[in-house]
Amino acid sequence: MNTKERARIQEAFKEKLDYDELMNCTRCGFCLPSCPTYIETDEDELHSPRGRIALMKGVVDGVIEPNEKVKHSIDMCLGCRACEPVCPSGVQFGNLLEQARDAIYENHKQSIVEKTIRKIAFKHLFPHHNRIISTTSLIGLYQRSGLQKFLHKTKMMNILPENMRAMEKVLPNVPRKKEMKARPHLVKAISPHKKRVAFFSGCLMDTMFMESNDATIKLLQYAGCEVIIPKTQNCCGALNGHSGEGKTAKMMAQANIEAFEKENIDYIITNAGGCGAYLQNYEQLFQDNDEWKERAIHFSKKIKDITTILVELDFHKQPLSLPEQMVTYQDSCHLRNGQQTFVEPRKLLQSIHGVSYVEMKDAHRCCGSAGIYNLIQSEMSMQILDYKMMQVNHSNAKTIVTSNPGCFLQMKLGVEREKLHEEIEVVYLIDLLLQAYEHAQ
Ligand code: SF4
Ligand code: SF4
Repeated sequence: MNTKERARIQEAFKEKLDYDELMNCTRCGFCLPSCPTYIETDEDELHSPRGRIALMKGVVDGVIEPNEKVKHSIDMCLGCRACEPVCPSGVQFGNLLEQARDAIYENHKQSIVEKTIRKIAFKHLFPHHNRIISTTSLIGLYQRSGLQKFLHKTKMMNILPENMRAMEKVLPNVPRKKEMKARPHLVKAISPHKKRVAFFSGCLMDTMFMESNDATIKLLQYAGCEVIIPKTQNCCGALNGHSGEGKTAKMMAQANIEAFEKENIDYIITNAGGCGAYLQNYEQLFQDNDEWKERAIHFSKKIKDITTILVELDFHKQPLSLPEQMVTYQDSCHLRNGQQTFVEPRKLLQSIHGVSYVEMKDAHRCCGSAGIYNLIQSEMSMQILDYKMMQVNHSNAKTIVTSNPGCFLQMKLGVEREKLHEEIEVVYLIDLLLQAYEHAQ
């Protein structure tokens, strides 16, 4: 970083960082044992929540230069928010992290490659659902056309970096483009009508994980919900927001608020921990705009994870069964730490006849996926994943259940790395619940 760059970043820190929130940190250190990067770096304060807050405050106060060391500390954070529920002062670390990343990425000089990738992904891809469909459908074509098999057979895949190669192996089978576009605006309840809800379908969830979205809608129908799927909704903006692209995240949030506020509904249902937590926190994006802040608060109040509404509607009391299996659950950080939802997924799993539920040690600790963290901070991500797989092995479970697409892929990657794909299955919670419901009929 050159002097001009550092000066710009320093100014941006002063402008964007919430100083009251920084001051809320009493430096007690209660958050340290919950932070995966602190643990995995042998307790390096630089990679702890307290250390990161101290660096942010130091930069705002002008006593620390926003150099590569500061950037590295901020980059290494998973954004898992495990430091929030344990903080006695209620420091909202996730918000501080986003503000700091915004300040850095809007002002630091990027290489041409980095700039191009970020521009394509954050400006030209995620905000446009049609383009996400087109892009993911190319993956489907690659999988079905025989090209995937050919590249594997000829070992041409080896030209990719190891983390990309590993990720490519665990991608789900992507549906065809025309299948991805067919969603009605409204579907009726199948059992007696109890609620009218809207479904937030997301970007990856409605393309790569389309079957899990179908399962979610089905479950809602079985639970007695009429489901609206607003057509003009788009990606929640979390990947943008967490990566220092606050401006585009704000635009995406506005489009979603507009799409859902037209509908007369009880709740907005999400099925991905990361999206739900971000949607619930839209207010943070509009601190400088009272009108949009109000609209964001109104929108966010309606957000509910699928597991919460299923328990509210007593879905766990319906007959649910599966062939006998030992199951464990990997919490989605943002479902747990952002939405405080961790009882409901377990309650639903434990209500399935045939399932022996076993809690793995540190199920609440991040799996290392964290959006695109596993691609850009691959070494730390794999270190965290190895610990996670050790706990899975100790639990003896043969099914790992997840509730976020990133966690799903990361756990599959863990299983693949340990060569356990013939013994251990990774499933999305909603898919398992639908199977259990239909199996019991
Ligand atoms: S627990 Fe909260 S107040 Fe204590 S050091 Fe961590 S962030 Fe600061
Ligand atoms: S968000 Fe996660 S990785 Fe980052 S400081 Fe908090 S606990 Fe550590």
